[in-house]
This record gives sequence, C-alpha cells and structure tokens, in this order.
Amino acid sequence: MIEDKTPQRTSLSQLGEFGLISHLTQHFKINQPSTLTGIGDDAAVLDFNDKKVVISTDLLVEGVHFDLAYMPLKHLGYKAVVVNLSDICAMNAKPTQITVSIAVSNRFPLEALEELFDGIALAAKIYDVDVIGGDTTSSQKGLIISITAIGEAKEEELVYRNGAGETDLLVVTGDLGAAYMGLQVLEREKQVFQVNPNNQPDLDAYTYLIERQLKPEARKDVKELLEALDLKPTSMIDISDGLSSEIIHICKNSSKGCNLYEDKLPLDPQLINACEEFNVDSTTIAINGGEDYELLFTIKMSDFDKIKGNPNFTVIGHMAPESEGIHLITRANTKIPLKARGWNALSEE
Ligand code: ADP
Ligand code: MG
Repeated sequence: MIEDKTPQRTSLSQLGEFGLISHLTQHFKINQPSTLTGIGDDAAVLDFNDKKVVISTDLLVEGVHFDLAYMPLKHLGYKAVVVNLSDICAMNAKPTQITVSIAVSNRFPLEALEELFDGIALAAKIYDVDVIGGDTTSSQKGLIISITAIGEAKEEELVYRNGAGETDLLVVTGDLGAAYMGLQVLEREKQVFQVNPNNQPDLDAYTYLIERQLKPEARKDVKELLEALDLKPTSMIDISDGLSSEIIHICKNSSKGCNLYEDKLPLDPQLINACEEFNVDSTTIAINGGEDYELLFTIKMSDFDKIKGNPNFTVIGHMAPESEGIHLITRANTKIPLKARGWNALSEE
C-alpha cells in the first residue's frame, strides 16, 4: 500500500545527519506556553509552573510492532504519536509535548522519512502538542521509532491504576476489538496480494475496522468530558494490550477483584460482521484484541447517574473484593476466570 507518489529517491547520505534533522524538523512550531525552548539546543526547556508533569515513552520496531507492507509511513508517524498521547490521557492529563527519535537504514530515501514526519506533524497539530526534540541515527536494518510524550495536570486531576474501590463500576469509552479485526483484514489482503498482485481488494465493509488499526485516535476528549460531568475516575488505564490484560492491571494495582459482563461489551456492527466472516468469537476479540486505545476506568457507584445514557461511556462490569477474583460473566451466566491473553511482545507465542 506504500505508493511512491513521487518517483524521487533522495539518498539520506546526500544530506548528512544535520541536514536531515533540519530538513525533517524545519516546520515544527511552538504553541504550548509550557515550552520555553524546543528543537535546536542541547536540550529542550519546559516550565509547567504549578502543574505536575507526566511522561511516557514507547519504542516501535519494524517487523515487531508494524509492517510497512500495509502500513503507509504517514499513518505510521501519526499512530506512533497517538499511542503515546493515549498514555498521557490515561493519567487524566493533557498532552503538551513530544520528542521523536528515529533509527533508519539507508534502504529508506528522504521521501519516505518526509512521509513519516508528515504523519507526525499532522498528529502534533491535531492534538496540539509541540515537537521539542529527538534524536536521529542510522540502523543496520529497518526503521525504529521512539516517541516520548509529556503532559500536564493539576495534582488533584491525576488518575492512577491503583485507586479502584471495591464496589466501583468499570467503564469503557468507545467500542472494543475493531483495531484487531482491522489487522486481520489487512493481513488477509496482504496474503491475497502476494498470490495475485492484480487483485484489487474491496475493503468497503471494513472501513471502520481498518481505520481503527491504521489511524487510531487518543481519547484526549475524555478528560474534558469527565470534567464537564464533574466526575473523577478512581482509577484509569488505556486499552493498548487488550481489555482483559488492562482490567487485570487495574485489579492487581488496586488489590481488587472484578466481574466483567459479556453482554455489556460495546461492539461495532462492522466488528460483529467481520467476526462472523472470519469465524471467530466476537467476545474473545473484544476482550483480547489490542490496540483500541480507548480508556478503561472505574467510578464510584454513586456517580453512575453522571454517565447514565451517555453514548461515550459503557458500564461493562464492577469491581469486587480481591478474594472474589477476576471473572467474565457470560451471557449464559457462567463465571469464567479472566486471563490476560493480550498481545505480549516478549511471549513465545
Ligand atoms: P545532539 O548532538 O545534542 O544529540 P542533535 O544534533 O542530535 O543534537 O539534534 C539537534 C537538535 O535536533 C536537538 O534539539 C534535537 O532534540 C533535535 N532532533 C534531532 N533529531 C530529531 C528528530 N528526529 N525529531 C525531532 N527533533 C530532533
Ligand atoms: Mg542527537
């Protein structure tokens, strides 16, 4: 799917490291009041006054975290930023800056990196974060991207993983499993393409799923939504590794148990159709499929009225004493222990 829009291939060695850095970073502007100095000195200088600062970093390795066969570079740049901003949002903080580090082999021409940085710049613009630095180096093979996101919040706004109470409600934003099924669709098309390169894929029935995989969004809006409802979650986490794995994180960190209800899981109609077509169980996908970048949080039961009927939020279960364990209650009303089968980069499977 990576089309060379321009036939031009400018070798990176023509620019040299400093030429490359200034070329890629020339259009980044500073908008955040907390950014005193951005790109161009030995270090960026930030001033958050009386706010707390939150920082999160991620490393993306070609062939491990992304496949350029179906991930256009512009999307990759966009997604690399978004997945980091999602972690800041999961602290109930506002993302303000990012740094961008890349290691790149000489297989990539300048034009490819321009596309990558177009995506990075687009995400920075949409989410209103300043790009304040990074590092640029060569790799022997493939592309490696590391993005660090910085955000701000008042101390009393911050929400951690460990605050869930015993009777709290478990709430999720958006819907579940779509990004994973989008990946399945793309993988299938890649195989079809390898057999018959002339085959034009018809992806109309999967547009939402594919968008969720290739162009995810961070729920930056949730902090404002919650503020407007005068609602502060007791714990929060973003769903990057699959719902079950993130629920278990909240339970372990909060020393609580939990009951999750199968019939409450929010599923998009496209996801349900795709699961039927691929002959996979939609509950399994919703629970274990990763990369949804929605937010999972707990609220006090007494706050239920504040989100009741709100289309942004779905109550999918409730917390319990730790001794009761962590369970999925199926539609047939059987109780199954919830296991973390989310995506694990270091697992053998
Ligand atoms: P140093 O030698 O101190 O590591 P560099 O020459 O690597 O400095 O970087 C020069 C400036 O450009 C620094 O402000 C650095 O943060 C920034 N920079 C380098 N690479 C990137 C990148 N990929 N994205 C954004 N900023 C970058
Ligand atoms: Mg450097």
